Amino acid sequence: SMAKGRKNVVLFPFMAQGHIIPFLALAHRIEQMGYAVTFVNTPRNIKKLHKSLSPGSSFIDLVEIPFNCADHGLPPEAENTDSISYNLSLRLLEATLTMEFPFRKLLSDLVDAGDKPVCVISDFFFGWTAGVAHEFGIFHAIFSGASGFGMACYYCLRMNLIHPGPRNVEFLLPDFPEAGKFHVTQIPFFMLVAGENDPMTKFQRKNLPKWSSSDAFIFNTVEDLDRSGLSFFRRKLRIPVWPIGPLLLSRREAPSSLEKCMEWLDKREPKSVLYVSFGSQNTISASQMMNLAKALDASSRNFIWVVRPPLETDISAEFAAKKWLPEGFPQRVHDQERGLIISRWAPQMEILAHKSVATFMSHCGWNSVLESLKNGVPLIGWPVAAEQFYNAKMLAEEVGVCVEVARGTNGEVREEDIGEKIEMVMGESEEGQRMRRRAIEVKEMIEEGMRDEGAHKGSSVKSHA
Ligand code: UDP
Repeated sequence: SMAKGRKNVVLFPFMAQGHIIPFLALAHRIEQMGYAVTFVNTPRNIKKLHKSLSPGSSFIDLVEIPFNCADHGLPPEAENTDSISYNLSLRLLEATLTMEFPFRKLLSDLVDAGDKPVCVISDFFFGWTAGVAHEFGIFHAIFSGASGFGMACYYCLRMNLIHPGPRNVEFLLPDFPEAGKFHVTQIPFFMLVAGENDPMTKFQRKNLPKWSSSDAFIFNTVEDLDRSGLSFFRRKLRIPVWPIGPLLLSRREAPSSLEKCMEWLDKREPKSVLYVSFGSQNTISASQMMNLAKALDASSRNFIWVVRPPLETDISAEFAAKKWLPEGFPQRVHDQERGLIISRWAPQMEILAHKSVATFMSHCGWNSVLESLKNGVPLIGWPVAAEQFYNAKMLAEEVGVCVEVARGTNGEVREEDIGEKIEMVMGESEEGQRMRRRAIEVKEMIEEGMRDEGAHKGSSVKSHA
């Protein structure tokens, strides 16, 4: 039967928190637009989702697709990449190809029940779902929570492996010259050394070409912010590409540090605080952390720093900021009321929206970028992994709201360089003033995009209803 009289949209993310979370935000948006949502995932993930779904979401149906880890030589907890190694994550990714049969059955059951979906929206890892949706005459779209620019760079690098020699440290991407010149350090090392037989390359070279058989590509981004990446995909895939961002999942439970952070920020001057965070999964090395602390210590700027255990430490280890930071630093910062050191998890969205926050030192994960720019906050970029490198490049070179301070977790980062970049963005330099003005323009651009956006996506989905 029709889901309570509503037309049904099927959502199918890859089994990783970084994928499931943006899909959940999408599910809520689609529900608000008057559709029912069938949210598909493997049994363990669905059971977890039952506990975290907003109680008000009566039109989101969580549906299990059969999947047995043991069939793929995986331990039972390997149904979500969050609790396993990279190698096991790869095996999990490869195993998703076997879900074609049960996914077809799932769609067929919906059709038989008189509840034929108006649209299937799948993860960018699941290019094969386009063919299955089309067997039933169902519209198919791919959704990415990453930026158009980041995905475009990723696409080019997987399809045309680039192995620069010692003399060509700078090069253009073959299909994406608009991205500008890349320096080898602007590309994660694993990407530069990946060969034809690299398992991820093999997987993606089958998957990426299937994107063009989809009917649309939906990005959590903003057209004017991310123009070159979006036009790359329009040209490459020849399907509609729809930016619908910023789509940000509002969290239900506030972290315990919320009140403390807000009270502290309330007492600071407007636009005087540097916020430092490397996202939900990444961290830097112990020596980088030490130099960052020294730079903050030497600087006169206020700051909030979300400290996660450095790379060398077991992430589940007891929180020991004192051990990882210079002697007396936390106490000094506390006594001088200069900064707040928050352990592991801070209320980031609320912090970035506070009027006292001036600048964000960030790993440039796409959600962090959107949250920063939505509030007109310029960035000091320190990409650590994945497409963060490309985001930082775009923000620095194309958008003009970011200056990079370091790349990756291997290199030594000098205390003086960090201090210089902080002063450059927060101080009175011409460059800093320009970045701050530009960040306000981008904030206005995003607000503009959000006004159009409802009608924009609405019409896209509705036109196929
Ligand atoms: N986040 C947060 N508090 C933290 C760290 C992260 O609320 O201390 C949130 C942040 O607001 C963002 C998400 O976690 O929405 C991180 O996503 P992003 O794409 O920036 O990076 P990732 O964590 O996926 O690397």
